[in-house]
Amino acid sequence: MSRIRVLPEILANKIAAGEIVERPASVVKELVENSLDAGARRVRVDLESGGLRLVRVVDDGCGMGRADLLLALVPHATSKLRELEDLEHIASLGFRGEALASIASVARVRVVSRERESGAGLGHELRAADGRIEGPHEAGAERGTLIEVRDLFHSTPARRAFMKTPAYELARCLDLFQRIALAHDGVAFQLTHDGRRVLDVEAGMDLVERVRRIFGGELADALVPVAAAEGGLRLSGYVAPPRLSRRDTARTMWFLNGRPLKDKLLLRILKEAYRGFDDTGRTPVAFLRLDLDPAQVDVNVHPTKSEVRFREERRVFAFALGALRAALARADLATPGARFAPVAPPAGLAAAPSAPILPFSIAPARPEPAPPRSPTSAAAPITPPAAAPPITPLAAVSALGSVPDACVQIAASYIVRALPDGFEVIDQHALHERITYEELRAELARGALEVQRWLVPELVELSRAEVALLASWSAELARAGLLFEPFGDTTIAVHALPARLARPRPGAIARDVAAFLEDAERSPGPEDVLEAALQRAACRSSVMAGDVLSLQEMQALLERGRALESDQTCVHGRPTRVRFRLADLERAFHRR
Ligand code: ADP
Ligand code: MG
Repeated sequence: MSRIRVLPEILANKIAAGEIVERPASVVKELVENSLDAGARRVRVDLESGGLRLVRVVDDGCGMGRADLLLALVPHATSKLRELEDLEHIASLGFRGEALASIASVARVRVVSRERESGAGLGHELRAADGRIEGPHEAGAERGTLIEVRDLFHSTPARRAFMKTPAYELARCLDLFQRIALAHDGVAFQLTHDGRRVLDVEAGMDLVERVRRIFGGELADALVPVAAAEGGLRLSGYVAPPRLSRRDTARTMWFLNGRPLKDKLLLRILKEAYRGFDDTGRTPVAFLRLDLDPAQVDVNVHPTKSEVRFREERRVFAFALGALRAALARADLATPGARFAPVAPPAGLAAAPSAPILPFSIAPARPEPAPPRSPTSAAAPITPPAAAPPITPLAAVSALGSVPDACVQIAASYIVRALPDGFEVIDQHALHERITYEELRAELARGALEVQRWLVPELVELSRAEVALLASWSAELARAGLLFEPFGDTTIAVHALPARLARPRPGAIARDVAAFLEDAERSPGPEDVLEAALQRAACRSSVMAGDVLSLQEMQALLERGRALESDQTCVHGRPTRVRFRLADLERAFHRR
């Protein structure tokens, strides 16, 4: 007798189940996907004990007749694939025919189903536990399918031991359910836990309404639409401004042809799109649908199908990146002022409840001519602060609201600008930094950066390691207009910097770039170094908080900001401006 034996089917299924059914959330995923494949318009999920005791999915889909039920729990039995070629263009969520068989091998399963065509109330019921199937027999049933999965892993204690608390398992189920609910407009979803309603979305709700229901109004109101199509590729959905980015990925969703994915490539595209908008390492919040010909993508890479392989990866990358960058550039990324103008005064103001929220009062506008604006001011670099005459608050305040860029400087750090429907407070350093960075980028895109060579190089003292690092990246740094040369072991000679930098501080730039190179976890790529160099140069050459600016200087700054594709966040992803709309003011003054 041979030592090698073919495993009994139940044992083989249990082993296969390990890949598909990891925890209650996997059961929810497989069952709800089956409901959607069955054309359901309404899907309800009932959980008990985080799904450990019960996962029940009820749908109004096409249902199964007696003959189908006999096969539903058999491994590799599916209605979604017939021949080999079908694997090349999979449009359904399921296709492997493994889920129900796997689930039935590690839990007690009951299926009640009635086909669409079947007579009133007439359906069938099937039960399965530990590999034994009972039925199907006739049973009263609603149209559609009900599947109950009880006591997951009851017969495999080793697996059961890996389950966490019901609260944790519920959170995992909910995360999954939310993703599916966001991916499928036109379908109503409902989730209950231990008899209590947890989540409800109606069939008629669109993506934004679903986001509002699931994650609240602040996020829904801030969403920026994305829409692009090109040669069979379609991207639609929403991204959130960088200030809403998160440390986790709970609000980052890609749907590929309706399938929620956690694909590395797609996540990389998203992070790349936010480069320069948010470099805090957090994950952008986004709800994005990518649709393409199913033949262009292989979804059969992983048993849970959460990763895919694109046939034309580069094309997908370039297309999606372009669409996302365009959306972000158009977006209003200003932080809304409403959050800072609460009806109750914030803690810092509590001592003086009658104090105005802003440290200046708005006088009635006098009809005063606008200060002259030099036509070349847009291109003129900011002059050093010493030359700037102090602004009298009165002159600036009286200009508020009468000309497009009526503005006033606060605490030598912020510019307050009147808008037709409110006003905005601009962080002068953040804005100048963004402008400088964008202008450097634009110059680079047109060819090479114009540099300013110095007759006498500036010498900067650094550590040996810093000097060595800067020297080893000198080619990339030169592309960014930073001409550094080692000058002895612990000194670097700065020969040139980009001509555009208004107030360059060579020492600070060199030290910042060296710090970046030292901190980089892995060896950075040439593009990362170029990016870091441009950012540091922009940061260390901009007006600082504390620099007094003349009205003309402020207006020149705002004018240059307007000419850019995006001036709404600084290169570190902090907002450049906070906007107070009329509605915020009315709320602050208890007018509504
Ligand atoms: P797959 O989804 O990969 O085909 P499953 O094991 O998940 O494999 O399901 C097996 C088959 O059972 C499906 O192909 C489908 O025909 C049928 N089925 C499962 N769930 C439902 C449902 N909710 N409504 C109608 N048919 C279903
Ligand atoms: Mg399935």
